[in-house]
Amino acid sequence: MTRLSLVVPCYNEAEVISQFHDALRRELAATGQTYEIVYVDDGSADGTLVALVKLAAEDETVRYLSFSRNFGKEAAMLAGLRYASGDAVIIMDADLQHPPELIGRMLELYERGFDQVIARRSRVGDPATRTFFARAYYWLINKWADVELVDGVGDFRLLSRRAVNGLLELGEYNRFSKGLFAWIGFESILFEYENVPQTDRKSRWTFRRLLEYGLDGLLSFNNRPLRLAIYVGLLLTAVAAGYAVWVIAVAILHGVEMPGYVTLIAAITGLGGLQMVMLGVIGEYIGRIYYETKQRPHYLLKETNLNPAEHPATQNDRSRRAT
Ligand code: UDP
Ligand code: MG
Repeated sequence: MTRLSLVVPCYNEAEVISQFHDALRRELAATGQTYEIVYVDDGSADGTLVALVKLAAEDETVRYLSFSRNFGKEAAMLAGLRYASGDAVIIMDADLQHPPELIGRMLELYERGFDQVIARRSRVGDPATRTFFARAYYWLINKWADVELVDGVGDFRLLSRRAVNGLLELGEYNRFSKGLFAWIGFESILFEYENVPQTDRKSRWTFRRLLEYGLDGLLSFNNRPLRLAIYVGLLLTAVAAGYAVWVIAVAILHGVEMPGYVTLIAAITGLGGLQMVMLGVIGEYIGRIYYETKQRPHYLLKETNLNPAEHPATQNDRSRRAT
């Protein structure tokens, strides 16, 4: 028998949480496995914690952790994975966008020996422009990053114990989890499900957030942007040297002409812009180093119903790094 843990990050989900919990429990009962549900309240402001405390009072399979403020979904998933004790862990959203009906299928594939069973959503119901940009982005990032990222794949997945342990060894502060999941490897299998559009509220993925997330993906996995800066620099130096030789040759053969004002301005602004971009890239990496060296915890716990004797770490939860 598999001991299953569900990890559910919740941020302002008070309205749907009990509906979600009922649906989840129905599916879990159908699988016949023992389970626990670890809800992580990511500093919600709408009574999500109250709802979780209530659920925990009614259902002894419910564990909850509550953060002192909103630390983001990545931190919530990390906390959930840390405190999940099952042989297999399923990460799910609380807003019913990840259908609990798929749990049975995930378990089947897990029992066949896969360490990561990954649910891939179709892009049904997404705006065409968004689909186009997503496709283009994944094409680019897979040419670029050291890990392979798949379009439509998110955090909805089942992880075996060794996969979870692998993830927990990655202590970085900047957690680009799509990449981390790919980085750990292990036997993985994808299966597709139909996209459930976000209904209750606007998606938190504004254009700007998507752009920032996209840049994160490009910068999180290697230092290729810095390499690119070197190559562009070398190329420009070569072009400038060639141009200088040409100007000198023309001056010797035909005498000195008035230099072109437009050429000069274009070169100055163009090069200035390029330098700013390169500085920005370097700055991004330094910024990351800055955050990592602070060694701040990923989150602070405010409240939990986990037994401190079984989970001594809850009393003084701090992310540490092996040296
Ligand atoms: N979430 C979270 N912390 C946040 C934002 C979101 O724990 O700061 C949770 C949220 O409650 C939900 C999941 O992460 O269970 C996905 O969030 P959302 O539906 O807003 O994102 P999307 O479906 O657009 O990816
Ligand atoms: Mg959602």
